[in-house]
Amino acid sequence: MTQIGFIGLGNMGAKMATNLLKTKYEVIGYDINEEYVENLLPQGLKKANTLNDINEDTDVVITMLPNGEIVEEIYDNIIDHLKPGTLIVDCSTIDVDKARSLHKKCEVKNLLSLDAPVSGGVGGAEHATLTFMVGGSQKAFEKMVPFFEIMGKKSLLCGPAGSGQATKACNNMLLATTMISVGEAFSLGQNLGLDPEKLFQIFSTSTGSCWAINNYCPIKRVGPISPADNDFKPGFSADLMLKDLSIAIKAIDSSNTSAPLGKKAQENFNKMVKAGQGSLDFSAITKFNI
Ligand code: NAD
Repeated sequence: MTQIGFIGLGNMGAKMATNLLKTKYEVIGYDINEEYVENLLPQGLKKANTLNDINEDTDVVITMLPNGEIVEEIYDNIIDHLKPGTLIVDCSTIDVDKARSLHKKCEVKNLLSLDAPVSGGVGGAEHATLTFMVGGSQKAFEKMVPFFEIMGKKSLLCGPAGSGQATKACNNMLLATTMISVGEAFSLGQNLGLDPEKLFQIFSTSTGSCWAINNYCPIKRVGPISPADNDFKPGFSADLMLKDLSIAIKAIDSSNTSAPLGKKAQENFNKMVKAGQGSLDFSAITKFNI
């Protein structure tokens, strides 16, 4: 039976592993927080007591971890114990250069590898509607597609090693700058005496229309239900948005890209997080007059 090793069973990983457990595959799970592993035992998860339990019996390894340093530490611990041809897929959000260097480490050991960060948040992980942005070889991607289909609704091979992380950095920089602009447009309108509901009706059907307005309007009782209607409980926290922007800024600098709005967005989120508001939804950035 195909065995999947799942490392990192936090907010996202637990839900993704649960969806895999509903299928014919055996899933062996590891997390430094043992409680998170034990929570999934009733669903049929096999417990990895140490990382050594993820070894030559494992056919596919998925990691869903907080950052690139931790992902690297895990890779360094497991890649010597996997058999050649094993597929190792990092779904965490990490920086592009780190993702590329991890692919190289895998190649040296004859392992197939993908970087496959996700969009869709905890809700997407739970309902198996994630989008996977993937970097790596066609061969590795094709091998992973059946598993992506269990955990998500879309996966796209964006290009070679690191292209998944690069795509995610571009997307989230765009989302951050858009959300800030949406907040500014509503503030200006309200200061000019306009009704936010009427602004929404026009924005959402005119040239200013975008996901941040149409699906995630940051104004209470305006547009579809969003974190703004729930005291900005996340959703997608400002802490995580700042992390993603920091990855984007690193990529901007290393690729000599001019992106002053992306840099300004990172400054704004940095101030919000430093003000102790990082656990709020990222759309609360619109309430900060920075
Ligand atoms: P989380 O903190 O809930 O989960 C991370 C898990 O990794 C935790 O359970 C933690 O105990 C475990 N862990 C940490 N160090 C470890 C180690 N050395 N060995 C084994 N396990 C270890 O985070 P999350 O919200 O699940 O996010 C995971 C990744 O997904 C992050 O890279 C994040 O940026 C990305 N992401 C999150 C969201 C979201 O909405 N939460 C959306 C898209 C992408």
